[in-house]
Amino acid sequence: MSVGGEAGGRFRDPRIHVWQLTHTVLVRCPACGGCALVLRDLDAADRVPELSSALSGRRRLRCRACGFGKDEFFSEFLFGGPVDPFFRLPLWLQAGCRGHVLWAYNVQHLDLLESWVAARLRERRAVPGSLSMLARLPAWVTSAKNRDDVLRAIHRMRASLPRS
Ligand SMILES: [Zn+2]
Repeated sequence: MSVGGEAGGRFRDPRIHVWQLTHTVLVRCPACGGCALVLRDLDAADRVPELSSALSGRRRLRCRACGFGKDEFFSEFLFGGPVDPFFRLPLWLQAGCRGHVLWAYNVQHLDLLESWVAARLRERRAVPGSLSMLARLPAWVTSAKNRDDVLRAIHRMRASLPRS
């Protein structure tokens, strides 16, 4: 998915909230260590997550590499670290950077991070209330002096994606 402007140009925050990026989460399979997916239950797939409470529901953990699968109902979520908000498994997309860990739930999340960090001009409309994922990024991610290191970490994460 391509969002916003070209790398190095201007990029407008599409104001996607972090929970809107959890439709598919790439995690490390607890059985084989490969890349597994945490998916929304099909019954909930057509539900628009207007509110974070709409996240409640069944999630499916599926590993194509070894066939491992698990379904569970969740009403509590953990956001803000390199684990999936549901099963709390380590994210597949994570990389050390400047003494921190950069992480993403999926390719869409990675694309957003890359576009934002690479952009020379970041446009953000001031909207009261809850902040978008990009607006909540810690300063070390968006600092100009860390730009090259952060982009390298993003490229390392992209290179770790399984070929499909
Ligand atoms: Zn597996």
